[in-house]
Amino acid sequence: MAHTESALPLKNLQGKVAIVTGGAGGIGEATARLFADHGVRAVVIADVQDKNGQIVAKSIGTERCSYVHCDVSDEKQVMAMVEFTVEKYGQLDIMFSNAGIPSKSDQTILDFNFSQFDTLFGINVRGTAACVKHAARAMVDKGVKGTIVCTASVVATNCKGGTNLTDYVMSKHAILGLVRTASQQLGVHGIRVNCVSPSAIATGMAARTGLTSEGVQMVFGPFTPLKGIALTVNHIADAVLFLASNNSAFVTGHDLVVDGGLISLPHLMI
Ligand code: NAD
Repeated sequence: MAHTESALPLKNLQGKVAIVTGGAGGIGEATARLFADHGVRAVVIADVQDKNGQIVAKSIGTERCSYVHCDVSDEKQVMAMVEFTVEKYGQLDIMFSNAGIPSKSDQTILDFNFSQFDTLFGINVRGTAACVKHAARAMVDKGVKGTIVCTASVVATNCKGGTNLTDYVMSKHAILGLVRTASQQLGVHGIRVNCVSPSAIATGMAARTGLTSEGVQMVFGPFTPLKGIALTVNHIADAVLFLASNNSAFVTGHDLVVDGGLISLPHLMI
């Protein structure tokens, strides 16, 4: 999945060291590849799907890409992932905290399942907070003016299209709260914290909820102002690289929505 169409001359990515969580597939994999294409010195892919993660790392090139097993819901594993990166590559400049899971099933608050909520929040919210915390600590320790990008979702600000995905929608709202508070706290260290918010894409996650590319187009296509173009993981990777690079040097606490205009509609009927 080589990506060669990015037109932006991205500033200041050369020589940087990045971590991508959830990098064994989907948005994370596309972003890890694009980082490598843009001169990032080292990319550490972290995931729980070891076989896929190792395949991605190998295809990027083991001289500048490593795979580490890291379940982001376990803070100790997140610490170990950051320590591994700093020990092997000297510092951490970019954290793309992207790992996440979808709702196991539709559920309204009337039949809310707290066991599913705990699992999902453990990964999507606790995991993201742990990645932001330990990345920021490593950056502050080394005096690195780094960048942190998290993956939220259009449902972080708008629950249309996810009305009954109660736990997932809650978790993505929480990502926005984390990005806003952490950006306020870390600005003094020159560390920027932003998030990217995709609309639906047929990645592995979407497939697990039964959404195919055709399904995504059928459901969201008619309501998306940008016609004749389907959202791909590379559109999200481009947005992440913008936020990770110096092209966005004065942008922090921001939610970059990549949705073809979908949520700008006042009365979205889905
Ligand atoms: P994906 O399933 O292809 O990728 C998610 C990756 O996260 C997988 O490789 C998975 O193994 C990994 N992961 C899951 N649990 C983990 C854990 N505990 N620790 C470490 N890694 C773990 O799906 P994707 O669409 O690429 O999802 C990436 C992010 O994008 C998620 O945060 C998701 O919520 C968000 N997102 C996706 C969509 C969509 O429609 N696909 C839309 C908006 C936001």
